Amino acid sequence: MDIRTGFGYDIHRLTKEEGSSFLLAGVRIEGGYKIVAHSDGDILLHALSNAILTSLGEDDIGCAFPDNLKETEGLDSKKILAFALDEMEKKGYKLSNISVSILLEEPKLKPYRKKIKESLASLTGLTIDRIGLAANTGEGIGVIGTKQAIAVYANVLIDKD
Ligand code: MG
Repeated sequence: MDIRTGFGYDIHRLTKEEGSSFLLAGVRIEGGYKIVAHSDGDILLHALSNAILTSLGEDDIGCAFPDNLKETEGLDSKKILAFALDEMEKKGYKLSNISVSILLEEPKLKPYRKKIKESLASLTGLTIDRIGLAANTGEGIGVIGTKQAIAVYANVLIDKD
């Protein structure tokens, strides 16, 4: 069996704006915060897609989806993940499991945890028991703790017989 691991990371600026929300794995997170981004800002899908692409030895998502083009403005990040999964399948690999850590001070993600895992299952074809999700605050310090940013780390394992 050929087994590979991949690691992905992303960070985006957060702004507080009445009535705004942001996306995590396609799930809308309410609570008055907005992710500043060229695409739709779905940082979880960015980190996960980079984990998959780098596990294959391929370039990161910025190469296929540059953030300075009109065509990628407001881009649905599910398309980025679909691209990464397609590259993986073309090389004969399948996802074994994914493990994600979200670093965010506010809002609390507990009410969304199940929905995010379900969305990841639907987007990747994995069963829920192969999707790990952790959330950490920044303990009130640094760019995470002072609510200036959100960051995501993602790990994947892929394999082929
Ligand atoms: Mg990003």
